Amino acid sequence: MITISFNAKPASASKSAAIAVFVGDDASAVHAKESLGNAGAYVAQAIAAAEFKGGKNATLTLLNPNKSPSHLIIIGLGKAADVNALTLEEAGATAVAAALAAKVAHLDIASALPKGVKVDTAVAAARLASGAKLRAYAFDKYKTKTKPEDKPKLKTVSVIASALDKAKKAYAPLAAIADAVSFTRDIVSEPANVIYPETLAAECKKLVKLGVKVEVLGEAAMKKLGMGALLGVGQGSVRESQLVIMQYNGGKKGAKPIAIVGKGVTFDTGGISIKPSGGMEEMKWDMGGSATTIGTIMALAARKAKVNAVGVVGLVENMPDGNAQRPGDVVKSMSGQTIEVINTDAEGRLVLADALWYTQSRFKPQCIVDLATLTGAIIVCLGSWRAGLFSNNDKLAEQIAASAKRVGEPVWRMPLGDEYDKMINCDIADMQNVGEGREAGSTTAAQFLQRFVNNVPWVHLDIAGVAWQNKVRFPVAPKGAVGWGVRLLNDWVSENYEG
Ligand SMILES: [Zn+2]
Repeated sequence: MITISFNAKPASASKSAAIAVFVGDDASAVHAKESLGNAGAYVAQAIAAAEFKGGKNATLTLLNPNKSPSHLIIIGLGKAADVNALTLEEAGATAVAAALAAKVAHLDIASALPKGVKVDTAVAAARLASGAKLRAYAFDKYKTKTKPEDKPKLKTVSVIASALDKAKKAYAPLAAIADAVSFTRDIVSEPANVIYPETLAAECKKLVKLGVKVEVLGEAAMKKLGMGALLGVGQGSVRESQLVIMQYNGGKKGAKPIAIVGKGVTFDTGGISIKPSGGMEEMKWDMGGSATTIGTIMALAARKAKVNAVGVVGLVENMPDGNAQRPGDVVKSMSGQTIEVINTDAEGRLVLADALWYTQSRFKPQCIVDLATLTGAIIVCLGSWRAGLFSNNDKLAEQIAASAKRVGEPVWRMPLGDEYDKMINCDIADMQNVGEGREAGSTTAAQFLQRFVNNVPWVHLDIAGVAWQNKVRFPVAPKGAVGWGVRLLNDWVSENYEG
């Protein structure tokens, strides 16, 4: 656990400490020179020798000839005029990554910034701290034999700020969001023998203490509602399927809520259409969409957002079993529409079909955003750098895309259309759960979902490529669960619904 604080001055002399300072892309002037003591000339010489140009997130770690602090970390911000809140968040995160690599116990982050940076100093300090907190996350609870020399050494990070009170005030909501991101990463990282539908529903109940109303529906209740699509997916599992509804009302009484819906397949073997064994362990994070849904409601409630929001997650385990759903089975969804299950591994859309229909019919939301690790095809299209965005509403799509850009969780809009919709028509039921062969697999999945949103303004985010990173692509997250989408949706609410 790494603690983050704000201080007026760097920590007193220590043998195991680093100070991080930032430079623009000219790298000519190292700022916070006073923090470097008389090492300034040495740093300038090292920057020249290393041909360090100060590009965004470029890092140069130096041993301090003066020995205290032991390390000097120089981090590039790129062009000063382009520095924004996100640049600083990523810079704070990069500083923590460098301090972890340098194995120091303490990190001071100098918030003095190069000339030309337009961000308010208190906001800058808060964003540096937020990035530091996001990157300081670790999921190491199951490692019992790490040698002392291999354990992370970093214990404390302090951001050096002039206007301490203003910085702390700006940081408070960011810290709440970062905590929600950590919570999201925790539940994504947990293995499927720990997080399964009932235990994930129990995690949702933790939001009650933030003033969120949490309801859990079991299989009997869902059967009464006619949720044959969702229930079919879980019928081969000994774990009982769950639907969790989280209501946070921070907005005007009676105002229509925004709705977030998440796919929560706590483990996906593929069912009878079983997946190959290589990499199947990764299917523990096939509940990433539900994790982001829960984390977003947590963030909104924790920072007391002025919005009414409802989060709905469909939680199932997809297993092969004597009672498992078969390819060719026809199920009836809550909407009344029937589905031929051609491939039992295309199960996320079956879960979402009922979760989406339930959400729009009960809450009459002004819009719905769903998140799902839905298709491998989206990774073929976009790699692991962007999520696929599908929408029936240009304005909503643009709002989400703008937030995505601001928080560094990029999206790319993908097409929907009648020609794709026809691809899921079926001979014996209203639709089938996959299209034709391998064509447009992410879009046919989205078309399937669109048949269950009942024309409510809707965005579907296919996060199969971004929910987890096997190497660091998003600088504010270490390897593993990214917690992708919590900061995005929080920003979206804050920019569009709290005004
Ligand atoms: Zn699947």
